[in-house]
Amino acid sequence: MPDLLKDKTALILGLANRWSLAFAIAKAFRREGANLVLTYQGERQRQTVEDLASELGVARVVPCDVTREVELEQLAEILRAEGDKLDSVVHSIAFANKDDLARPFLETSRDGFLLAHEVSAYSLVAVARAVAPVMNEGGAILTLTYLGSTRVMTNYNVMGVAKAALESTVRYLASELGAKNIRVNAISAGPVKTASARGIKDFSRILDHVSQTAPLKRNTDPGEVGDAAVFLASELGRGVTGNILFVDAGYQIMGL
Ligand code: NAP
Repeated sequence: MPDLLKDKTALILGLANRWSLAFAIAKAFRREGANLVLTYQGERQRQTVEDLASELGVARVVPCDVTREVELEQLAEILRAEGDKLDSVVHSIAFANKDDLARPFLETSRDGFLLAHEVSAYSLVAVARAVAPVMNEGGAILTLTYLGSTRVMTNYNVMGVAKAALESTVRYLASELGAKNIRVNAISAGPVKTASARGIKDFSRILDHVSQTAPLKRNTDPGEVGDAAVFLASELGRGVTGNILFVDAGYQIMGL
């Protein structure tokens, strides 16, 4: 299925390293012919992201900490100044204090709750508001979520609540942006060992459980998330908006 994103430009936020789901999505988008703009959060990440960008053949790498309105405005300005049309946006960002993922949910701090929601859910609203004016010909906004939004997952805690907010945000944005032919969807990925995932206590137990229980008897391959993202960003997904697409080896259907 070659060139599904030929002549399309995609902005990808949340690529930290080669294990990031955003990296798998970036690889799949490049394979399908997309031009990419990547972002990094803070100078600490700059070199790593620039190295991965050159490996992917991506020319544009710009700073964007989603908690800083000024950086979102600069990002929109850069995209406008380049005169490109923007066709898709991948929001692959989440954060919670490690402490809040290790102690009982009841002990979640007020600051930790607000921080997790700001970075992991509100940022989708802020990013969509910044980029929608550049998406003149319509397009697709994607985010990444997890089953912990609707089911209790041990140690996922405040992040599960933030993912519930994120999924609701997908629906409200889809409803408003549909008139501009901008589709908004989330991929609910099965657990994958990434830097963020390592912040969840006993994460390898989750991986073991899923590989034994999921209908496909294995864990999710990041490449599968990349391919699903291609579908949602391409013409093939043109009728899909406000949706949560599970790419999790089927784990979410299982009961006892
Ligand atoms: P990851 O590689 O650690 O990616 C998370 C990204 O969020 C990093 O690039 C991180 O940047 C970025 N980020 C955090 N705070 C930010 C801020 N204020 N501004 C801009 N960027 C910020 O982990 P990942 O697993 O690929 O996570 C990507 C998305 O997939 C997340 O939404 C996650 O919840 C979701 N997801 C993951 C799994 C899984 O099992 N891995 C399953 C389902 C859904 P820094 O590294 O610079 O902090």
